[in-house]
Amino acid sequence: MRSHTLLFSLILLFGQGLAFSWDVVLHENRRYVPVENVSKFYNLSPPAKNADGFVISSATKTIKGKNGAREVFINNVKYVLCFPIINKGGTTLISAMDVTKIIEPVMRPGLIKNADSVSTVILDAGHGGHDSGAKGNRGIEKEAALDVVLRARRLLLQKGYKVQLTRSNDTFIPLEKRPAIANRYRNAVFVSVHFNKSNTIGGTGIETFALAPRGVPSMDEENLRYNDIKLYPGHAHDPENVALATAMHSSMLRHMRLTDRGIKRARFAVIRHLNIPGVLLEGGFMDHPIDGRLIASSAYRDAFANAIVEGVTRYSNAIAGNTNYQAPSAITSAVDPTPIPNLPKSLAPYDLNRGLNEAVQRAAKQLATPSATANPPISNAN
Ligand SMILES: [Zn+2]
Repeated sequence: MRSHTLLFSLILLFGQGLAFSWDVVLHENRRYVPVENVSKFYNLSPPAKNADGFVISSATKTIKGKNGAREVFINNVKYVLCFPIINKGGTTLISAMDVTKIIEPVMRPGLIKNADSVSTVILDAGHGGHDSGAKGNRGIEKEAALDVVLRARRLLLQKGYKVQLTRSNDTFIPLEKRPAIANRYRNAVFVSVHFNKSNTIGGTGIETFALAPRGVPSMDEENLRYNDIKLYPGHAHDPENVALATAMHSSMLRHMRLTDRGIKRARFAVIRHLNIPGVLLEGGFMDHPIDGRLIASSAYRDAFANAIVEGVTRYSNAIAGNTNYQAPSAITSAVDPTPIPNLPKSLAPYDLNRGLNEAVQRAAKQLATPSATANPPISNAN
């Protein structure tokens, strides 16, 4: 009964009048669909399977995944999945949640229902005042974030966008006030600018956060918590959030050229209370020797600002159905008819380091050698 209901929902969601039959498989009370269904639905090649994963592609689109991994690469951009990819009886399965919440909005952004065009960009420089954010040898997060935001504002105004800042100087703005400012605007998107710090030595690269859908654990969590099943205002824009994250993140990768840490999910206060689409960008690690040096430079800050402007433009094109630019588009119905599944007791732990590329591993190795002590990562108590 349950799977019939879901099948019906998926047909409603995707069907647009076409009957497509998804072979729904229940696993630990979650709904999964075979990767073969996904390739057929999106007119991609049948899965080319290798030992531990699959690739499905067309001339312009690619989806790549690995059994057991909680990540997928769509058009070469990394997405942290809601739930790991599994293999059951030789069939590779992707959760229905990930198909509706990530793959659909990324593959067909032009089909997002009621996505508003963008005339205003709300730029949110993270931290401020007594809240310095992450610290590195060459600067502090609150200062770098504000500088990037001011550079982006200049460029956006030149392009004809209206721009609203949550802070334009070194003042402390409480977290809940930031979305409140943004929510005064329509035909707007919210972009929060941050820099990272390492919990373990050697963290590097850029990442983008979109609001975790309802019923999905946050990125670093193994278990669902009470907050994970709460409905927040930001959930009304789940598809736009992923589309915006895709547009922003791919632009950041292009301009900033740092390691791709992926598009991730969280329930940060600044994004969960938004009534408009929004993302939180992490533009590198303040406490990493290479990232830190870049972040302190004017060139890198300009690159970040340009990435934001390009991201807004890409998003606008994507939701308008114009995906003639290279790289991912991003979007689905704003209302997810998928009911909250019975909550699983736990999920496989996600290893943050698993997705790091060779450059990062090299950097991490360098840090471990004595010559690196001339430029040590500072331990950050903040
Ligand atoms: Zn921050």
